[in-house]
Amino acid sequence: MSVYLDNAATTKPCSECVEAILSALNENYGNPSSLHRAGLNAQLAVDKARKSIADALGAAPECIYFTSGATESNNLAIRGAAAAYGKRKRKIVVSSVEHASVAETMTSLEQNGFEVVRVSPREDGKFYGIDFVSACDENTCLISMMLVNNETGYILPVGEVFAAVKRRFPEIITHCDCVQGFMKLPVKASSLNADLISVSGHKIHGAKGTGALYVKKGVRLIPLITGGKQEKGIRSGTESVPLIAGFGAAVDKLSPTISQRYEAVKNLKAHLLAGLAEIDGVTVNSPDDGSPYVVNISAAGRRSEIMLHYLEQREIYVSSGSACSKGAQSGVLGEFGINGKLADSAVRISMTAETTVEELDVFIAALKDGIENIRT
Ligand code: PMP
Repeated sequence: MSVYLDNAATTKPCSECVEAILSALNENYGNPSSLHRAGLNAQLAVDKARKSIADALGAAPECIYFTSGATESNNLAIRGAAAAYGKRKRKIVVSSVEHASVAETMTSLEQNGFEVVRVSPREDGKFYGIDFVSACDENTCLISMMLVNNETGYILPVGEVFAAVKRRFPEIITHCDCVQGFMKLPVKASSLNADLISVSGHKIHGAKGTGALYVKKGVRLIPLITGGKQEKGIRSGTESVPLIAGFGAAVDKLSPTISQRYEAVKNLKAHLLAGLAEIDGVTVNSPDDGSPYVVNISAAGRRSEIMLHYLEQREIYVSSGSACSKGAQSGVLGEFGINGKLADSAVRISMTAETTVEELDVFIAALKDGIENIRT
């Protein structure tokens, strides 16, 4: 039996998503920009998915723009807002634990003359809202914070910080990378106080290659991709109707059960932690009040890559810090105060509501064997 516990990297598309993709590929293959019936049907499929994602975020459908994934959504949000607002104001505030698609974009803007202020957790490994607010000033054009950290599950105080920032500096654009929170926590555009929100299809049982950006009405972005003016000119290029339809189908499926699935995953996390507590030398790096979907541990000084391959030989799939960096350490764990041997032996277990207790037990037993059999 194979045990897939790498759902923060990507999830298995649900059957509803696969059916929607196949039906669009086989039957609804028109170009949404074409003026005939086939084009209209394709446009209707895109708009149906747009409404699903908008409803999930508590937003109007006109605020949702489809992209190729959250990497593009993050780039469009940050570069697009910096280009629109950063002519007068050249400072950006960001958390120090962002995914590479935000962190590297910031570095690139820094090389182009922006001042980027990175706010770190304090010594206790926690973020304090006041640190973000006091980093902002009259010269700040944008603040960007992720909701759920993809390596540890830490939940950042986005709604509270953005509200405080907006109170003092109403002109600052607020962006949230919501990839690991969307469809897992009850995320709404209004409760986040965000002008821009990035989400990804393949993290929520949709297909790879599709994502969306929520853009609050009145917020102006300079597009990254110019062309045929699809998506109201914000994201040119023929829409991937099949993938978008699949994304919408996945959202429709998950939307009604966010809280039930959260409870189920919380119970799975409790089961996992109870099992891990029986193993000598295992340290839990994730906070108790983090998203239960992501659990980061350190396995008794056994190097992450070696442990990953040990588990992989038993058809158990987990990852080190984050899958995107192909195992290379991103520095995010260090930001949370997880350093040295703890960081070198970090293993990320990421679940879905479909994960079973039996699968977790298989993982726990294999991890225990791994610790016994792998030499430090
Ligand atoms: N942000 C976060 C927090 C992520 O976890 C990921 C995916 N690892 C991304 C952005 C990028 O998403 P995508 O794969 O859709 O480009």
